Amino acid sequence: MVRKFSESSTRRQFLRQAALGGVLLYGWNVAAAGRLCALRVGSHQQGVRLVFDLNQRLTAAPVIRSVGEVLHIELPGIEHGLGRPAVPTLGPLQGGAEMNKSATGLVLRLPLREAVRWRSFSLGPGRGASYRLVLDLMPVAGTAVKSPRAHPVGRAGRPIVVCLDPGHGGHDSGAIGAKGTREKDVVLDVGLSLARLIRSTPGMRLVMTRNTDRYVPLMARMHLGFAQRADLFVSIHADAFPERAVRGSTVWTLSETGASNAAARWLAKTQNAVDPLLGDIQSGVHDPMLNAVLINMTQTAAMNSAVAAADVMIRGLAAVEDLHNATVQHANFVVLRAPNVPSMLVETAFISNPEEEQRLRDPDFRRLLARTMHDAIVAHFVKAPPADSAWSVTRHVLSKKENLADVAQHYGLSVEALRLANNLPRGEGQPGEPLRVPITGA
Ligand SMILES: [Zn+2]
Repeated sequence: MVRKFSESSTRRQFLRQAALGGVLLYGWNVAAAGRLCALRVGSHQQGVRLVFDLNQRLTAAPVIRSVGEVLHIELPGIEHGLGRPAVPTLGPLQGGAEMNKSATGLVLRLPLREAVRWRSFSLGPGRGASYRLVLDLMPVAGTAVKSPRAHPVGRAGRPIVVCLDPGHGGHDSGAIGAKGTREKDVVLDVGLSLARLIRSTPGMRLVMTRNTDRYVPLMARMHLGFAQRADLFVSIHADAFPERAVRGSTVWTLSETGASNAAARWLAKTQNAVDPLLGDIQSGVHDPMLNAVLINMTQTAAMNSAVAAADVMIRGLAAVEDLHNATVQHANFVVLRAPNVPSMLVETAFISNPEEEQRLRDPDFRRLLARTMHDAIVAHFVKAPPADSAWSVTRHVLSKKENLADVAQHYGLSVEALRLANNLPRGEGQPGEPLRVPITGA
């Protein structure tokens, strides 16, 4: 039997399977027909890697060609697909995909942001795994997937990876204000402004779960942060409550119970798997107990880091917006569950509050939110740069001739980020005060 797939049944099915797994998974069992069971996307060396999980071998070599700014991938002998697979905006991929049947199989069309070259290879079934077609896409220029601006950095090291996740999108509007303001539009706009700021930050690399008005499943968002080894995952939302007077910002991180449950599920899925997209967490480790310990340790470190970052975020937001909760809140949100990824969810303001809805409608306020969030993200990494990153921290002792603005400008920071990184109150710093400042560029 071939099930008809509507958007919602696809989603439900996806969420059910994803809840059991922890990797991108789509589709369902259809007996005795060539079937694309899953499509996974992640970054890989110079570009991105797509892994097509198939229930049988392709009947012929895949046909891959680029037509204008779209990559066509034909899978001969495959009859059943995934409806509309959620492909993230990543490297040369524009995000989104279309899938149609052709006379000989399935054709997937992927919109591109830049010209690519590719190589593909097939893998037989591993232990319990299906057949796989692996397709690597590399930008023609040979440039790595990174921010367009290349910056000199203070030391050798990888860029800090920030994954932005504007909530909702597509058919999922999120909360809607009394004036019809849709959460998905507001948070996308804040996210795009914040993305521009992160792209222009030396030593930082941006990843986004969506940069257009499209729906991305929660697990796909979480998985992107994990696959990209994000140093920080920031989900952006606007809150709603039946009582219209309720207002202010809230910052959430994952609750302990959510973390251990998610880690346990992740473990169940991955302890025997060898997955080209999942990488380090299980590599070379086949002892389930040891695996559990490793996952818990990395998860604990990630959660501590998330709380530290969320704390800076709250202090930053307090300068521009009322706080609904003055401390970091904890909940078991799916998007926050990626092991090893410090993750937070920012409820910027209440779209259900008429005054705050009005503010959210104001482009200046949305840009202010983006700047504030950027200041907090920068300040967090000035406080705690990842050890192997291109960022390091030094002390700048404030001289009598300098003010905070001079120091901030010298190190490419905003005054607000400098304040947040050093827990400075309003007003000028004291001469002789040692300030934490980043070394990220010349
Ligand atoms: Zn939301």
